[in-house]
Amino acid sequence: MRHAQPADRASPLRTRLARVGARRGALAVAILALTLAAFLVTLEAGRDQVRRASRQRLVIAEAVMRAAVDRFQYLPTVLALDTEVQALLADPDATARLANVNAKFEAIARASDVAAIYLMDAHGLTLSASNWNQPMSFVGSSYAYRPYFREAVATGASRYFGVGSTTQQPGLFIGKAVPVPVAPAAGGRVRGVVVVKVDLEGLQGEWRRAGERILVSDAAGVVFLASEPAWKYRPFRPLPAAETERIRAAQQYGDSDLTPLLGDGRGDFAGTISLAAGSRSVSGLVERVAMPDLGWTVWYVAPTGPAFRQALLVAGATGIAGLALAFALAAAGQRRQRLRAEQAMRAALERRVAERTHDLSQANARLRAEITERERATAALRATQDELIHAGRLAALGQISTAINHEINQPLAALRTFLASTVLFLERGDEGTVRRNLQRMTEVTQRIAEIIRHLKDFARKTGPGHCEPVRLAAAAEAALDLLRVRLRAEDVAVTCTIPPDALVRAEPVRLEQVLLNLMVNALDAMRGAPERHLALTASREAGSSWRLAVSDSGGGIPPEHMAQIFDPFFTTKAAGEGLGLGLSLSSLIVRDLGGSLTAGNGGPGAVLTLVLPAAEA
Ligand code: ADP
Repeated sequence: MRHAQPADRASPLRTRLARVGARRGALAVAILALTLAAFLVTLEAGRDQVRRASRQRLVIAEAVMRAAVDRFQYLPTVLALDTEVQALLADPDATARLANVNAKFEAIARASDVAAIYLMDAHGLTLSASNWNQPMSFVGSSYAYRPYFREAVATGASRYFGVGSTTQQPGLFIGKAVPVPVAPAAGGRVRGVVVVKVDLEGLQGEWRRAGERILVSDAAGVVFLASEPAWKYRPFRPLPAAETERIRAAQQYGDSDLTPLLGDGRGDFAGTISLAAGSRSVSGLVERVAMPDLGWTVWYVAPTGPAFRQALLVAGATGIAGLALAFALAAAGQRRQRLRAEQAMRAALERRVAERTHDLSQANARLRAEITERERATAALRATQDELIHAGRLAALGQISTAINHEINQPLAALRTFLASTVLFLERGDEGTVRRNLQRMTEVTQRIAEIIRHLKDFARKTGPGHCEPVRLAAAAEAALDLLRVRLRAEDVAVTCTIPPDALVRAEPVRLEQVLLNLMVNALDAMRGAPERHLALTASREAGSSWRLAVSDSGGGIPPEHMAQIFDPFFTTKAAGEGLGLGLSLSSLIVRDLGGSLTAGNGGPGAVLTLVLPAAEA
């Protein structure tokens, strides 16, 4: 079951990835389709534009052609009516007339810029020509085989494009028959034919210069004018043999072998054409217009490259725009997603913070309640402690009462003895001894009063009260006084090394209480020791305080107890012997006095060190 978990977890991811993949695929197809559509539409629009422009150019080209052809249409007719021409035809041997006609033809040809003007007799023999005086003169040549002659003879007029058989120069031959003056109307005889040869070659140069691809074909489909020289005198399609024969016979296009421009195609080319021009190939849309009266067709070939390139450009731009849009949409989607995730995260965070805040305020409330409780407990404890201090004091009082009792009983017994003996000495009249006894008795009562005073002071419940300079030695002496009996009974050697100038700021009674505590503890510790030695050593501390070490030769404080000995009620003594309050009360008192109390081991036993602020004398 466990190994199924990752797959379970992976499958939503896979579904998501698949969905993203499908979306991207659809987007890619859409962009591709858009690009293709943009390409096709732009290409079609471009081609339309090219077609429209082609048609316009074609109209102009045809008009120019028409103008070039029509410009000299009248000229043969006018010349056919010329009397001199007619006279020359009537008498071809009239030399002077021939010279006149030659000169006239030459002058007119030069003035009107036609290639040649010439006159043939009824047999096609050239009598006169504008180029009569040139090496390639038509004079004397017979053009009876040329269609323009035959047609003019047959119909009275002719128009024919062909390559000149003498000059090898192509041109439009416009022929006009000169009729016999008195001939019967129809089928009348012809005396000769006047021909004007118009040079149309110049048009081609103009087309070329304008960068236009224009072709003009004749009725048989042979191109005879073209912006590209390579296309000239060639049919678009292979010609039937008879047609080829006819053109060859008439030498219409000189020696041209009439190689087809398009090869053996299937039917007519529609819309587009591709023509070889030298090493390159020219292809594009083709438009045509017919000139029915001449049997010609003018073709205009417009390259589609620019339209194609523009379509590519637009398609590219569309594709890029599509991609950019897709990226922008994707980025916006991602941004939206990120924002949503951030919002969710922020909401979760706020929820968490609110929860934490709630938890915290609850914890705070709990803590406050606890603090209040603690304060209450502390106050109670402090009250108890105050009680305990007092109780501790009373307990100490109880503990030492035996010693005190002893201390007072002894002087009392001594007093009794002195009194009895004094009475005896008085009866004997021994005044000296009586005076000495009385003196001793006074001393004894003084001692008793002293002890009682200590007792009173110790039992008095005092708070932090009035501090005054206290002589350390005096305080130690007072405490020792209270223990004198016990010290003697337990055979304790006491060394007190306290300089007389050792003055501290303290409450005398409380200081004595502390010292008494420490000394009682020391005596307790030395109870079973082979040697009992209590030492009180004072020394000046750095700064303005005094240190008093209370050391004994007991067993010392075990390390495991060291941390506890200042705790209230910590005691190692048997029940009834110790309450465990001595050190805790002492350290409280010392702290009240602005000093410190610490414990350690040194030499054979424990060393309790008391530090108190020094007081100036
Ligand atoms: P109590 O004397 O009633 O036991 P204290 O607070 O005065 O209470 O002392 C606590 C404990 O510290 C004693 O029970 C004892 O174990 C230890 N202690 C105090 N002073 C000495 C000392 N001089 N040597 C060894 N142990 C000591």
